[in-house]
Amino acid sequence: MATENQTDPTALVQQPRVNLLGMSRKNMEAYLSSIGEKPFRAQQILKWIHHSGIDNFDEMTNLGKPLRAKLQELAEIRPPNVVKQLDSIDGTRKWAVEVGGNNLVETVLIPDGQRGTLCVSSQVGCSLDCSFCATGKQGFMRDLTASEIIGQVWLAIKSYDGFNNGNKRIVTNVVMMGMGEPLLNFDNVVEAMSLMLDDFGYGLSKRRVTLSTSGVVPMLDKLGDVSTVSLAISLHAPNDELRSQLVPINKKYPIAELLAASKRYIAKQEDTHRVVTIEYTLIAGVNDGVEHAKELAEVLRDLPCKVNLIPFNPFSLSNYTRPSNNAVNRFWLVMTEAGYVTTVRTPRGDDIDAACGQLAGQVQDRTKRSERHRQKAELAQPIRLV
Ligand code: SAH
Ligand code: SF4
Repeated sequence: MATENQTDPTALVQQPRVNLLGMSRKNMEAYLSSIGEKPFRAQQILKWIHHSGIDNFDEMTNLGKPLRAKLQELAEIRPPNVVKQLDSIDGTRKWAVEVGGNNLVETVLIPDGQRGTLCVSSQVGCSLDCSFCATGKQGFMRDLTASEIIGQVWLAIKSYDGFNNGNKRIVTNVVMMGMGEPLLNFDNVVEAMSLMLDDFGYGLSKRRVTLSTSGVVPMLDKLGDVSTVSLAISLHAPNDELRSQLVPINKKYPIAELLAASKRYIAKQEDTHRVVTIEYTLIAGVNDGVEHAKELAEVLRDLPCKVNLIPFNPFSLSNYTRPSNNAVNRFWLVMTEAGYVTTVRTPRGDDIDAACGQLAGQVQDRTKRSERHRQKAELAQPIRLV
């Protein structure tokens, strides 16, 4: 006797396979239940994917053959497609990952002694248009999926053959500081970060996974309800007038609201002594004066924080410049004397355009293409025929 499904013509249409690479433990358990399997299988599958770097079901030898065959039919483990790998003389490695439609996103691994910090992208481009950021200048195409986000961790480890070598030392820290605003791709970022923290995933401590945001206040509050990762706030200016010029979203969520939300975030964490990292990109003649440092020290007074100064990294299409070492040191001194733990981020991977804010990938912008063309045209030198 024919079942309803067999007579339904839509049943013949092949359903797209579910990519298990970016599925958190909770969601994989639910998925397995939904296909009539035992939820505990999720732990086994997660270990194969994220501990052993396996991307086909045939090699998952502790799953029975029928389950493997079923997964083969319904699901897949599809890692991102790396189209380019660049190595800097300082050991930094950058990958360009193809994400469809002629778009590329970038991922950077910064090795430093025992530490390997992976800078992960969350969106194809960014819609927030900060004036000093190469990604912002490209406009926005789409959010990355959870598989495309965690896939960057997977591919970095794979690239160093880390899955066969105990994997742990390749990526010890993750910073969501690549292309895109992570809080505007909330669900996928949270799902991917849960795999970073999960012992059946990458088992990183919450202090070693950092989300950086330019300040989407409502989403920051939402994050505090579901996540325990470390928080970095891209502040870049000590007052609203200047910050609104550099970080346009400040017009919607001004500094006082952003700092209050940051405080609420750490208050929600179970452990005490958590601090927020304040990122401050120093741009010559714009926000790098002693007066700015003094004002910043005042503004941050009530927030448990440390300060990370990032000398501006230049890119084409930007007229800003990096401050002198003297200016950076002066700023550092004011903050330090005011009692803040203050570090200066050394640019890494400069020679392969992998430093903060230089990640550009390739974005087929849906929103601002014409504007970008206009800017390019304005910057271009006129050609003189003599
Ligand atoms: N969208 C998020 C995360 C990505 S940007 C955010 O804005 O926080 C990661 C960090 O690099 C941010 O602090 C950002 O302000 C900084 N940055 C962007 N462009 C830069 C540049 N050209 N030079 C130095 N830092 C830059
Ligand atoms: Fe987007 Fe962050 Fe760049 Fe601003 S600094 S445009 S929020 S990626």
